[in-house]
Amino acid sequence: MSGLVPDNTCNICSCEFDIESEGGVQGFIGILPFSLCPMCYSGLMDMYQKLSGDLNDSEEVLDDDTPES
Ligand SMILES: [Zn+2]
Repeated sequence: MSGLVPDNTCNICSCEFDIESEGGVQGFIGILPFSLCPMCYSGLMDMYQKLSGDLNDSEEVLDDDTPES
């Protein structure tokens, strides 16, 4: 591990991405930093929605793609 700060390398596909211009997400799982490129992030959200859709049959679309200005 290179440190305790999320970097610009996706933890799933190992590609580099620019969170400012491309999107994606950075954060912490407990104390472990993680970074997801936009592609893996949307893929994960897609998977999560399918999984949670089985438990909770509400269809809610989150619009978190608004650029901050
Ligand atoms: Zn990725």
